[in-house]
Amino acid sequence: MKSIDIHQLVRENVKRLKPYSSARDEFQGLGASVFLDANENPVATAYNRYPDPHQRELKKILAEIKGIPTDQIFLGNGSDEPIDLLFRAFCEPGKSNVVIPQPTYGMYAVSANINAVAIKSVLLTPGFDLDIRAIRQAVDSQTRMIFLCSPNNPTGNRLDGKKIETLLNEFAGLVVVDEAYIDFVEGPGLVPALSHHQNLVVLQTLSKAWGLASIRLGMCFAQAEVIAILNKIKPPYNISHLTQQTALSYLSDPQKKDRWVAMIRQERQRVARALSTLPLIQTVFPSEANFLLVRVDKPKAIYDQLVAAGIVVRDRSTVPLCEGCLRITIGTPAENDKVLATLQQLSE
Ligand SMILES: *Cc1c(COP(=O)(O)O)cnc(C)c1O
Repeated sequence: MKSIDIHQLVRENVKRLKPYSSARDEFQGLGASVFLDANENPVATAYNRYPDPHQRELKKILAEIKGIPTDQIFLGNGSDEPIDLLFRAFCEPGKSNVVIPQPTYGMYAVSANINAVAIKSVLLTPGFDLDIRAIRQAVDSQTRMIFLCSPNNPTGNRLDGKKIETLLNEFAGLVVVDEAYIDFVEGPGLVPALSHHQNLVVLQTLSKAWGLASIRLGMCFAQAEVIAILNKIKPPYNISHLTQQTALSYLSDPQKKDRWVAMIRQERQRVARALSTLPLIQTVFPSEANFLLVRVDKPKAIYDQLVAAGIVVRDRSTVPLCEGCLRITIGTPAENDKVLATLQQLSE
């Protein structure tokens, strides 16, 4: 295990920052019944009070589900919020850089650009795995974070665990592993590895397997020191009461999520097999996520013809290593039948 001084990675102004202290932070005693401290409307609608800024109930149930203490959990307005906060906490604008193996999820680069942090892009290997030598070459004394996505979007594959381990052992900054699709994989992902890697940050979300994209709840798991810094700079009430209540209700019934995941995995296999028999499909790449990346002859034409049939997929054909590729999300069995039938017609 690499020993890392997290404090040393923190942006100077964040180290010195005195965080906003909310009314709900300052009074934490029990037994009060008259709250005149936050300028709320006293008329009890279901929504007149500010939400718990620390999402205690939600973190308690997540701690049980994920097997990790609550002080190692940060919750954000989607995964996008912890991604942005990581830049703001650990990178100096105009000075630091981050390494991003491509192709991958676009938000890491957008957040880097918003925060004036330089991006060192390296390519994945042709098989979409980590090119450790290229990453080593890209890392310099100003590199604060490496962004990995596993299973990766848009390629669908998991990154080699041994290679991630190598980076965790070698790199003196944070290794951020985005596990937005981890529920579609057997096993717990990298959360258990937090017990022996100080520089690991794991991102997960309720937006995919849990069926809750619209409530915006992203999860970040890391060492308590890292989480404390994210909490220090987050907007005080970043998770609404509606989101906290909805998340609690779904998290209390994980079997519902498990049934959806089983359906999607089964459909993924069925759709992958059917696609691979169609003449206009060159390659169906193996996927451990809830989408398939396929290579076709004329991606733009096929995209347009699918749209004409009322079906929207994602054109990834201009993305490096994904030339000619479309990304197709696994839908309901009926939706999948429709996309297969339409592609069958286009093949004829
Ligand atoms: C969909 C997705 C997310 C989810 O983002 P939210 O802001 O939590 O909805 C995160 N990372 C990747 C790689 C994704 O594909």
